Amino acid sequence: MRFASRAHPERTVSFRDALFTGLAPDGGLYHPVDPPDLGPIIARLGDAHSFAEVAEEISSALLATELGEAKARGLARAAFPFAPVLTKLDDRILLLELFHGPTCAFKDFGAQFLAAAMEGFLQSAGRIQILVATSGDTGSAVAQAFHGRKNIDVIILYPSGRVSELQEKQLTTMGGNVHALEVAGSFDDCQRLVKEAFQDGALRRSLRLTSANSINIGRLLPQCLYYIFAGTRRAAIGASAPLICVPSGNFGNLTAGVLAWRWGLPVAGFIAATNVNDVVPVYLESGRFTPRPSAQTLSNAMDVGNPSNFERLVEIFKGSWEGMAGRIEGRSVTDTRTLETMKRMYDEHGQMMDPHTAVGVAAALDHLESAAASGAPVAGPESPRVIVLSTAHPAKFSDIVQKATGKLPEMPERLARCLSLPKQSVPIGTRLSELSEYLMEMFG
Ligand SMILES: *Cc1c(COP(=O)(O)O)cnc(C)c1O
Repeated sequence: MRFASRAHPERTVSFRDALFTGLAPDGGLYHPVDPPDLGPIIARLGDAHSFAEVAEEISSALLATELGEAKARGLARAAFPFAPVLTKLDDRILLLELFHGPTCAFKDFGAQFLAAAMEGFLQSAGRIQILVATSGDTGSAVAQAFHGRKNIDVIILYPSGRVSELQEKQLTTMGGNVHALEVAGSFDDCQRLVKEAFQDGALRRSLRLTSANSINIGRLLPQCLYYIFAGTRRAAIGASAPLICVPSGNFGNLTAGVLAWRWGLPVAGFIAATNVNDVVPVYLESGRFTPRPSAQTLSNAMDVGNPSNFERLVEIFKGSWEGMAGRIEGRSVTDTRTLETMKRMYDEHGQMMDPHTAVGVAAALDHLESAAASGAPVAGPESPRVIVLSTAHPAKFSDIVQKATGKLPEMPERLARCLSLPKQSVPIGTRLSELSEYLMEMFG
């Protein structure tokens, strides 16, 4: 597999180079060139194969040329000691639970694979420093994934007082090679500091700064694996290819699903479910892409006004709006509707869900309602199932779950444990000089 930016498709790089550079030299995102044909492999996989087996097969098909068969398989095995679970909500909707990893959110899949891949490549080549700005969830997935990895230090910048208590504990209780910097500013300050550090000549000469953000291809690729896993659960999805509904913010998750389809996974279509930050649904409806500042919502990991992976979707559909709008249906959901859906699913099915998943379920229900209104069969054995990606454990958003349902979700042991540990963070201000001083003293 080779990767290149949209502007320079001829300048291809290896998986390893795409992993460590993050962005192409022209500032564009890396895209896979020469899409592989996974159709025959997917056709062989089914209910008898575990997620680990599916992940190994696909990782081998994608990466064996570069890494060798044994390493490509070993990477998938090392990255995923946890697995997605496909459950039934009702006769038409299935939930693909992606929150069984260490931080209870789907970002664990991408972060764990990236960390395992980087560690594998670094066997003998000195230490690197991963620098990440976080508003909450990304930081904890990355911190957890890189914790204890050889030759890697992780430095997480988070805005003081602006993340939830649980998120802060997830970031600051790990110790070892994970260092949390509590910035006296906003998330934008954290992002700016990281950007400035990457551009600072002196820091670049003394350290090996590396990013691990969501645009890294090493986080995107492994997300294809759970789509393929879901698509091969043939007993649950029945005879027709499923529709897949993805609660979206930066659109990395949906992009990975569209890639899986492009590479041979049978999918009837996608639903892009957003909260009121609906620039992609508006584009799908009108052909006009108009980024705007994000609005705050209950599903805050999807509060994105200018989704960076949109560029990758455009590339996959070769710039054709008709192509994209023909495959992806956009639906946006308000906070009121999100809360109503959480309550209704708990009352009707005893199912608790986090607000991000609820946005997806509300969008799926809207789709089914308009499909039924237009005369399409939606409930028979031959009608396609809708798979909604369940992106976080309800206990990560227990206050909102309680507000919607009147009940507190049960807290998984791994979340409860970090709440009882003492916070360890280093406070810094918003000037680059403070970050540089810290970095040079610790790692220079
Ligand atoms: C990050 C996140 C999303 C959005 O995923 P994108 O890939 O950015 O579209 C949805 N739900 C949860 C819980 C998240 O953490």
